[in-house]
Amino acid sequence: MSDTGRPGSWTDSELATLAALAETFVQGDAARRARLAGEALATIADPAQLAQLRLVLRAMGSRAANLLLGGRPTGFAAMTPAARERYLLGWAHSRLPQRRSAFGAFRKLLTFLAYADPGEGVPDPRLAAIGYRPDDPPVTDQPTPIRPFLLPPATSTDPDARVTLEADAVVVGSGAGGGVVAAALAAAGRSVVVLEAGPFSDEGSMPRTELAAFERHYLDHGLLTTWDGSVTMLAGTGVGGGTLVNWMTCIAPPESVRAEWGTDHGLEEMTGPAWDADVTAIEDELGVAVATHIPPKDAIVLRGARALGWDAEPTRRNADACGDCGSCGFGCRRGTKRSGIRVHLADAAAAGARIVADARVTRVILEDGRAVGVEAEASPGGDRPRRIAVRAPTVVLAAGGLRTPAILQGSGLMHPAIGRYVRLHPVPVVAGRFTERVEMWRGTLQAARSLEFSEPEPGRNGYVIEAAPGHPGLLALALPWEGTEAHAHVMAGSGFISPLIAITRDGGEGRATLTKAGRVRVDYRLDATGLATLRHALVRMARLARAAGATEMVAVGSPAAWYHSSLGDSSDPARAFERYAERLAAFDFAPNRGGVFSAHQLGSVRMGADPRTHPCDPWGRVRARADGDEPIGGLYVGDGSVFPTAIGVNPMVTIMAMARRVARVILAET
Ligand SMILES: Cc1cc2nc3c(=O)[nH]c(=O)nc-3n(C[C@H](O)[C@H](O)[C@H](O)COP(=O)(O)OP(=O)(O)OC[C@H]3O[C@@H](n4cnc5c(N)ncnc54)[C@H](O)[C@@H]3O)c2cc1C
Ligand code: SF4
Repeated sequence: MSDTGRPGSWTDSELATLAALAETFVQGDAARRARLAGEALATIADPAQLAQLRLVLRAMGSRAANLLLGGRPTGFAAMTPAARERYLLGWAHSRLPQRRSAFGAFRKLLTFLAYADPGEGVPDPRLAAIGYRPDDPPVTDQPTPIRPFLLPPATSTDPDARVTLEADAVVVGSGAGGGVVAAALAAAGRSVVVLEAGPFSDEGSMPRTELAAFERHYLDHGLLTTWDGSVTMLAGTGVGGGTLVNWMTCIAPPESVRAEWGTDHGLEEMTGPAWDADVTAIEDELGVAVATHIPPKDAIVLRGARALGWDAEPTRRNADACGDCGSCGFGCRRGTKRSGIRVHLADAAAAGARIVADARVTRVILEDGRAVGVEAEASPGGDRPRRIAVRAPTVVLAAGGLRTPAILQGSGLMHPAIGRYVRLHPVPVVAGRFTERVEMWRGTLQAARSLEFSEPEPGRNGYVIEAAPGHPGLLALALPWEGTEAHAHVMAGSGFISPLIAITRDGGEGRATLTKAGRVRVDYRLDATGLATLRHALVRMARLARAAGATEMVAVGSPAAWYHSSLGDSSDPARAFERYAERLAAFDFAPNRGGVFSAHQLGSVRMGADPRTHPCDPWGRVRARADGDEPIGGLYVGDGSVFPTAIGVNPMVTIMAMARRVARVILAET
């Protein structure tokens, strides 16, 4: 932030409009939120997107522009609260996609900050009003089993000198896939360096608030979206990657999908003993066990599904027998979550791997057509950036489904399918309101799931229904905004809300591209099957919520679709509900109308037999070209990017099993 208290290069008038927006979305703390929002956007937004948002703010602040566009010569900040609200709702429902996109971007950021920011000093009155008192679990007295490798100190004579490390293998990214590969290579006696772009937190110092967790351990501070803002995405960052903050639901991939990967993409050994052995080994390492604590939001899934005669069971998850605090999305301070820092990275470190935090790889070093290492920028603990090179004959990219293709593109690799076929497991939401207190932020994150619709039917793909855990910031950005009071009213009852989500197998796909500024742009479109799947899931989630006793529910979006059991045709509630279900069956999922979320980014450097459409061969070797099968020597991908398609269930276990396969190939070849 600049000395004037202004973040980045924001002008006073842009900040004034941002503050007026903040105050209109949620009353209170507007200047502070405008400053936090400005800082966040200046840090993480692509310059092209930032320029667009600033242009929007300037237009909103301009009397002339508002006269031209809305017939009133008043800047946004000078309007009455009611006029500002009408103005924003006009943008929310605009026929122009750019207006809906801008509305969505500001809405999500400013409503999230209103409830995620604990404020300065005094307890936040908004959080107090909703009864948000998250548990404060005891901090483990066992030391976290890894320590990051410290780079040699810079010399005063040449502080910018490049640090060069030598290793047998360098693994880029320390999440679900990278951890497994690093552990396997280190256990086999290879010297391994892991470079991780995000920071290291030991368990005792994991973040305690939602805002701090998003800033430290979520990619792009948790503000990741598709380029048009239509899909809100979450991904982890830091030593441990997604495993550090994820919700620990462990579901093996459907056999039908694996069979399809064999027949349609030429992947061998996807069904049979080798695959089963990989999944069993992963589950043993993770200590996967059935959830024993079933909090209210998950009891709703079990109750509703069983009342309808649908499948529903407690989930299997990778944590010791805890489940009482609900802070897993901030990183586990008690040390009971079996994330990378307790399992695979810990094993890798015990076998000698050097794990470097805050080291962002910028490119793969290629010499004579083979990979010989990587270059990175490191800024451990926010220190002055240092340049690092790791020279290693084996390079494994595991930077996640969005960053791995960007590194390949940034290294000059030209295979046209790199970055294509991005799958997101798009998630629609139905939030039910119940008469009992649910407190979706408390207890096991996901203790129950229904696989009733996991197999596809003609016209739609498979999906899993789960309860979404979350703290108030995430809930505030997910719930519809239909006016200042309306949003405050729904949030005031958030202790009684239980959102249901459906993890759907994508119909449609996206593309990840490296921007000029070195960021990643994701474009994504659902096809007709994808849309039908989301609508099918909305209807089923609504039926489940009703069967479990929801008195109100909302399918999230702009416009949202509300159901109130006390309204409508009270003489025939069943008929009133069926009319609601018909609305959901036609729900508008146009970009920035229907609410769509994703915590699973997959398939962007996919594996397969056909070199034209698969940048990796079936064993994770990166191909040099699309017109031949020749791999680039020493270059592999070992994360969710390699999925040939989406799978329609939570992917961590599958990513880890695929990473084991890749590690086996590396060990056989090097
Ligand atoms: C909130 C949340 C909840 C989830 N819940 C579940 C769940 O319950 N069950 C489940 O199965 N899955 C869940 N997932 C998904 C799962 O965690 C991810 O799919 C999985 O972690 C992806 O593994 P990966 O190896 O592909 O990438 P990641 O685990 O995302 O790891 C990639 C790592 O690479 C690092 N990186 C990126 N760029 C660079 C670079 N240039 N240089 C160096 N490092 C880089 C990143 O910082 C990150 O740490 C959840 C995800 C989130 C975000
Ligand atoms: S795993 Fe989750 S519920 Fe268990 S102690 Fe850790 S943060 Fe709390």
